[in-house]
Amino acid sequence: MQADSIRALVTGGVSGLGLAVATRIVADGGRVALFDVNDDKGAAAVAALGDARARYFATDVTSEDAVATNVAAAKEFLGGLNMVVNCAGILGAGRVLGREGAMPLARFQSTVMVNLVGSFNVAKAGAALMQDNAPGEDGERGLIVNTASVAAYEGQIGQAAYSASKGGVVAMTLPMARELARFGIRVNTIAPGIFWTPMVDGMPEDVQQSLSASIPFPSRLGRPEEFADVVAYIAGNRYINGETIRLDGAVRLAP
Ligand code: NAD
Repeated sequence: MQADSIRALVTGGVSGLGLAVATRIVADGGRVALFDVNDDKGAAAVAALGDARARYFATDVTSEDAVATNVAAAKEFLGGLNMVVNCAGILGAGRVLGREGAMPLARFQSTVMVNLVGSFNVAKAGAALMQDNAPGEDGERGLIVNTASVAAYEGQIGQAAYSASKGGVVAMTLPMARELARFGIRVNTIAPGIFWTPMVDGMPEDVQQSLSASIPFPSRLGRPEEFADVVAYIAGNRYINGETIRLDGAVRLAP
């Protein structure tokens, strides 16, 4: 996919990894529709990216109806839709088991709803529109990139809900890719380690330090631009399909 022809819907696109992806796409000559629930950050992101190339759509990804309506509006603004990047996510931290202080069911459910069901909702609505695209080289019509986490593979204490949600994202990647292959739509997932974003900024300093120390090389947190680089690489290489790419500096997390 030519970088300047990218017409992308980016969820969580007003902050952290999603904003880095949106920034990269606009810098390369493409256009972005930002789906998020943070209106203030949405306005700031559009001001930074320019309203000719970026628009914010207040959208809760857990709502199938809101997603369907706004995906159609996003396609109109973008002048087409050929890429969906699912970055919206929440940590949903908390111990799930035990008699005292166990996670309320509602928090487990909301974590799965945002991280897994939200990614499904947006992929589904996006794929339905991208199927109509005129085929490009190799018959390509579109690309979906999801965001999982290393927590899908080695979750820490207090991350059972998060790990379950992200494990679901990894698990749905290959079947989705196989299903959408006949339409020329690829599906891939990136599983980041620990990146400097507002999600990590909010953690206590000692936790941040132990996170940095857990990364063998380079021994620092990832930069959101490094995540955006991989999204751009996937977009440019049609042979990457049905894959989950770990992007984590070989991180080894403590339990
Ligand atoms: P972030 O908090 O900066 O961005 C997440 C965005 O998702 C926010 O803007 C938030 O408003 C939005 N969001 C939350 N709930 C939503 C909903 N229901 N509908 C629409 N938008 C919603 O966090 P980030 O670090 O940029 O995380 C991006 C993705 O990467 C998430 O899926 C996260 O789980 C994943 N991830 C992050 C890291 C990391 O170290 N930062 C590591 C692994 C995976």
